[in-house]
Amino acid sequence: MKQAIFPGSFDPLTLGHYDIIKRGVTLFDEIIVAIGVNSSKKYMFTLEERKQFIEKAFIDEPRVKVMTYKGLTVDFCKSINVDFILRGLRNPADFEFEKAIAHTNRDLAPIETVFLLTSANTSYIASSIVRDVIRNNGDYTKLVPKSVTL
Ligand code: ADP
Repeated sequence: MKQAIFPGSFDPLTLGHYDIIKRGVTLFDEIIVAIGVNSSKKYMFTLEERKQFIEKAFIDEPRVKVMTYKGLTVDFCKSINVDFILRGLRNPADFEFEKAIAHTNRDLAPIETVFLLTSANTSYIASSIVRDVIRNNGDYTKLVPKSVTL
């Protein structure tokens, strides 16, 4: 079975993430959405909330699983025997950042990173923007799947 992990913070899940995951299951048999836990990072949503947003959004898609992990993404891949990392690319800044990470990961382990270009209608969406809209009482509902609620 061809599996890929889609790692990130998902604070919270956005329509951009949703789009990449939906398209990811057309390429892989299973996508494991992997929520990275970084104890020095402050999150708006708890780990349990972030996990539930994703699980609810893909309740009808059994080929999407959600897991959490600590430490290096490649070590997590090895521990669950997954050979591919899926990432989304929005713009040149994402490309430069992702390129360095993908090269580093390849130095650490024989794991391939597969990139999908964002869909045009969700390319501007970022979790940080969603958090800003929420903090300022704006209408965030157009930026996230229905499962994301306050
Ligand atoms: P990180 O903390 O690693 O940046 P994110 O949760 O912000 O985690 O993003 C996880 C993945 O989703 C990354 O590959 C990122 O490029 C991708 N992504 C984020 N927003 C979008 C979007 N609007 N469209 C497509 N991919 C996106």
